[in-house]
Amino acid sequence: MKKYSEMSKAELRAELEMVQGKYDELKGRGLSLNMARGKPGKEQLDAVSDMLDVLKSDSDFMCDGIDARNYGNLDGLPSCKKLFAELLGTQPENVFVGGSASLQLMYDTIAKCYTHGRLNGDGPWSKLEKVKWLCPAPGYDRHFAISQSFGMEMITVPMTAEGPDMDVVEKLIQDGDVRGMWCVPKYSNPDGIIYSAETLRRIASMKPAAKDFLLMWDNAYCVHEFFGDYVPFPDILAECAKYGNADMVFEFASTSKITFPGAGVSVFACSAANMEYVKKLLNAQIISFDKVNQLRHVRYLKDKAGVLALAKKHAAILGPKFRCVLDALEKEIAPLGIAQWQRPSGGYFVSVNTMPGIAKATWQLCKEAGLTMTGAGATFPYGKDPQDSNMRVAPSLPPIEQLEQAMEIYCVSLRLAALRKLLSD
Ligand code: PMP
Repeated sequence: MKKYSEMSKAELRAELEMVQGKYDELKGRGLSLNMARGKPGKEQLDAVSDMLDVLKSDSDFMCDGIDARNYGNLDGLPSCKKLFAELLGTQPENVFVGGSASLQLMYDTIAKCYTHGRLNGDGPWSKLEKVKWLCPAPGYDRHFAISQSFGMEMITVPMTAEGPDMDVVEKLIQDGDVRGMWCVPKYSNPDGIIYSAETLRRIASMKPAAKDFLLMWDNAYCVHEFFGDYVPFPDILAECAKYGNADMVFEFASTSKITFPGAGVSVFACSAANMEYVKKLLNAQIISFDKVNQLRHVRYLKDKAGVLALAKKHAAILGPKFRCVLDALEKEIAPLGIAQWQRPSGGYFVSVNTMPGIAKATWQLCKEAGLTMTGAGATFPYGKDPQDSNMRVAPSLPPIEQLEQAMEIYCVSLRLAALRKLLSD
């Protein structure tokens, strides 16, 4: 097959007629498919539902000498702190176990900056004239939504194959109004990139002008390999401490993609000084989080080895789904030269970069043929992709037969959008 850029107008027109025919046929099937969000599929949820059997009315609810059913232990069951410390490579005393969503902890961490200010900071951010925030993009839309809801001025930082472009970051943090940065260091959403050791070193050793600069380190995919073995990743708390930046970082994680999204356990990890500061603030907010659920997770997952064994079960379900997406792109799109994409081995997404100017049109064509994709532009601050190019494919939810149909619609829509654009230019 020829690259579209090498076809004559006549060839492009013939191709358009053929692809339009295919598209009309697919549309005529009246399908309703969804690849919009990174939700685990039903098989994954079924695979962990026996967790609900580990606690019954006659179970032993004592754990670490604590009755998990009662008030107390604001920062969580010690066994649960230990489990997450093992996963993140940090110490149990650095871990705070929260409720069922790390996103809520992230939102709350930032909300506290606005209402009360940061530890040793410049006071509440709500009193500041301006708060600027670094947003490596493509990135996670819900991070950007948090920033936007607080009225931050979001600054896009390009992603490279090694993580955020640190030359750009190091320049931007010289501005004292830049108060923080989002990072998804392992299997970044959506690129699936693992930050390199050099990127990590440069992040941990940053010298921002704002003394209360907040590094939001969202380690959402810390044990989420779907091809190959578990990839160890350094502890950001220790890395930052090495460069005198112990208080700069808050790390986040959850079991949303290990047990149940929305009904799992979430954590943040931070320095001793940060922990003391935020615990005082949290103490006014809640007596203690759901320790019954923490106990269920500890009894079910046991330890890091238990989590990694479970991760293998998820990988056995997710691996073929990612293979399906990557194979379809390789076969249908690669020879045409109209898009490029990452080939991740973990996380929940495949990040596709189409030729400039056709992501929105592709999304619309998918929609009209019954396939819902993540909104084009969603992976950029303010929902605005300057190139109109990045699309996030989320293969986890549909069963594989549906995924095959979804990819057929996606690839044909992408081709159609590319042909229309090339013929109109
Ligand atoms: N962070 C990232 C990078 C994510 O991709 C997601 C889910 N898609 C979350 C956080 C949400 O985590 P939680 O369910 O713990 O709020």
